[in-house]
Amino acid sequence: MRWTQTFIPTLKETPADAEIVSHKLMLRAGLVRKLTGGLYTFLPLGLRVLRKVEQIVREEMDRAGAIEVFMPALQPPEIWQQSGRYVTAREVLYKVKDRANKEWLLGPTHEEVITTLVAGEISSYRQLPRNFYQIQTKFRDEIRPRFGLMRAKEFIMKDAYSFDVTDAAAQVSYQKMYDAYTRIFARCGLRTLPVEADTGVIGGKFSHEFMVPADTGENEVVYCESGSYAANLEKATSGGPLEPTPTRSTGPAPEKFPTPGVFTIEALTAPPYGVAAPAQIKTLVLMVKRSEEAESEPVLVLLRGDDQLNEAKFAGALGTNVFRPATPEEVFAVLGAHPGSLGAVAATLKTPNLRVLADTALRGAAGMTTGANEDGFHFRHVDLDRDVRVTDWADLRTVRAGERGPVNGQPLKLRRAIEVGHVFKLGTKYSEALHALYLDEAGHQHPCVMGCYGIGITRTVQAIIEQCNDRDGIVWPLTTAPFAVCLTPLNVAPDHPAFRLAQTWHDELTARGVEVLLDDRDERPGVKFKDADLIGFPLRVNLGEKSLARDEVELKPRREGLRAVKVEHALSAILEWLDTESGRLAEGTGRSGDSARNDRSTAA
Ligand code: ATP
Ligand code: MG
Repeated sequence: MRWTQTFIPTLKETPADAEIVSHKLMLRAGLVRKLTGGLYTFLPLGLRVLRKVEQIVREEMDRAGAIEVFMPALQPPEIWQQSGRYVTAREVLYKVKDRANKEWLLGPTHEEVITTLVAGEISSYRQLPRNFYQIQTKFRDEIRPRFGLMRAKEFIMKDAYSFDVTDAAAQVSYQKMYDAYTRIFARCGLRTLPVEADTGVIGGKFSHEFMVPADTGENEVVYCESGSYAANLEKATSGGPLEPTPTRSTGPAPEKFPTPGVFTIEALTAPPYGVAAPAQIKTLVLMVKRSEEAESEPVLVLLRGDDQLNEAKFAGALGTNVFRPATPEEVFAVLGAHPGSLGAVAATLKTPNLRVLADTALRGAAGMTTGANEDGFHFRHVDLDRDVRVTDWADLRTVRAGERGPVNGQPLKLRRAIEVGHVFKLGTKYSEALHALYLDEAGHQHPCVMGCYGIGITRTVQAIIEQCNDRDGIVWPLTTAPFAVCLTPLNVAPDHPAFRLAQTWHDELTARGVEVLLDDRDERPGVKFKDADLIGFPLRVNLGEKSLARDEVELKPRREGLRAVKVEHALSAILEWLDTESGRLAEGTGRSGDSARNDRSTAA
């Protein structure tokens, strides 16, 4: 391919609204252009990368025995009503009307469609297991589309859905996808960390997210250096806070004392009070709905003063996603005081059967301080078991760095990451709702046991850039680069020896299946080099007049220094370099990546 025959609008300046490095580089390298927030056009180079990622995904899904299909993006709302997600997923659903004013949905995902297909086509255990996948555009009405392709309104996903006869069989399908994902990301040249992920209200142990460590990621990952544990912060557990919770009673009964103007845990740690945060009880009021139709009910949540509520754990403990913090008016109605003076000491509760959910770090806590449900007053000498009527105990706190890991007690670390893939054991939620049933050998009917497996293809493209870049631009791994080699003749007159040589090599390399871009622009060398480095072709070959006079050309691998080679050896040097480079990546695949090896224990 010749540069002037394609379309590569590189930019010298960084567009003002691009915040993170990968977004800036995608725009500057001419890979994509923004139509409007969350909607992007792929330009030729970006499209080449996209196709490569898709191809890798396809090969590995096929290798894992998944079957490619292609489902409609436009979906009837009825199947979403049947699964219940017409309501629970309403925030992300784009709805459109046809000429008869009938409503349709633009699919954010395809569980409902695939389960409907399977309900119609599969009826016997003999037809199982099956795993269907597709690579397709999804639509999600995201609250905050941002960071380019990372969080878009329209994006490409690979989604796969497995159907099995039993839980144990579903586990095998799950593991196949887990292994395929490990290979996919390694082949893409991405270092990923598979982490245990929140399973939400569905529950269960089997969900992993594939995370790309990056400071700009929207997720937080908890892990320990040895690799024995890695989890999304939403899910992570630990041996508990490092500083112990006081458990020695300090008085025979709670004692009320005045705390004028004190509304925070922190204010109570200061003189004259000097109550350490771990010796305080934090009281939150949340309004919870057990189902969509139900009324909101208040729930008191008790945490140690220095802990933060983990909302995913709270949702899991309650079995519903529908909750919100109470408004100050609601708080007042429930407890008769304003936030800052709240507490759960039984004697002060107006509503005796109020649900009180306490974090396990408070078990046995004694000699604690908490609000008195009277503005400007707190209680000291509070013993949990004696003075508070806890209805349920649960792990509700957010883990902090430095705490002991749950597997072998090693210190936990925290870092930000980008979720590129997700494997999830679904169980029978959709197969029951949409009647994907099979008959077993004895003729008994059961719902299929399902799994679902997503990879954000467009997000993966950008995550590679976020991980593989330097001062000068993108540094593509060979497997996902838009072109492997950029030939840069520094004179582009059609009969100039530099150009003629470049043209010959272009043809020869192309014939051997190497993807080559010939920079035939009549530009200064500096401009060509800068652009090639910005785009990040793995190998640049400079054909300059001075070196050609010495019968030499220059090989400039993107990650290495320049080296001169004799013209007669140049082609084999290029091929050799490409060989070594692809060997390096393949080796990465064989090892399945360090992080993958580390996490085996949690996926088994
Ligand atoms: P997130 O937590 O980032 O919103 P999700 O958990 O809702 O993602 P899934 O439903 O698991 O996403 O979708 C599978 C994959 O699709 C994700 O792992 C991610 O890579 C990608 N993805 C999800 N939402 C978007 C989006 N708005 N833009 C681009 N890619 C996305
Ligand atoms: Mg997810």
